[in-house]
Amino acid sequence: MLVVFNILNTLKICYVKNHLKGIFMTVSIKKQMVEVSRLMYGKGLVNAFEGNLSVRDGERIYITPSRICKGFLTEDMIVVTDMEGNTTEGRFKVSSEIKLHLGSYKVRPDVRSVIHTHSPYATAYALANRPIETRAYPEMITFFEKIPLAPYGTPSTDEVFLKAEEYIKDYDVVLLANHGIMGVGADPYDAFFKVESAESIAKTLLLAERLGGAKELEPEKLEELYKLKGRAGVPFDSR
Ligand SMILES: [Zn+2]
Repeated sequence: MLVVFNILNTLKICYVKNHLKGIFMTVSIKKQMVEVSRLMYGKGLVNAFEGNLSVRDGERIYITPSRICKGFLTEDMIVVTDMEGNTTEGRFKVSSEIKLHLGSYKVRPDVRSVIHTHSPYATAYALANRPIETRAYPEMITFFEKIPLAPYGTPSTDEVFLKAEEYIKDYDVVLLANHGIMGVGADPYDAFFKVESAESIAKTLLLAERLGGAKELEPEKLEELYKLKGRAGVPFDSR
């Protein structure tokens, strides 16, 4: 009898522990999403109605709601869906770009967070249909090498992901032609750092163009950077 009691007691403790772990995990994810959403708004990466952020936890997708300013997001506004985008928790309408997020998680099992913005400088490149690449800026070469441009897909439709799919498989940050930019990462901070860094680099490169164009590094100096990248690894490349 005592043995049975002990087993039941252990099972009960395990259940409570797992239940509490689930609750703490949810609180932690939502807290991180609120913090990163506010950073996105504070840094000018999103305007009042744009941009979206999601986090994957197993088969659960936490995502920001549609048309809610990221600067005023609270934890209770965050929507939870399954891997097909069906809402399982939350009272708000899910982000219109959820298909871009779901598709990204499906082709990148290593990814735990996706961010999409229309940040001004990166989006300027996207509108001009120009990928972000340079032979002049060591930070860009070392961190990203290249931020490719995926073909245009009508916003909020399946097309956005379908056109970007091949690029998302190989790159953590991708420009979406005539639309904006997206980044993926190991958590919301990682995805945010990449998108914020890409925006800063796009701004610097555009300013250099206004000053007559960035001066390219000598081939041997470029080679040094490529070697450095190969040896030291790239902090922004999570794969
Ligand atoms: Zn968009």
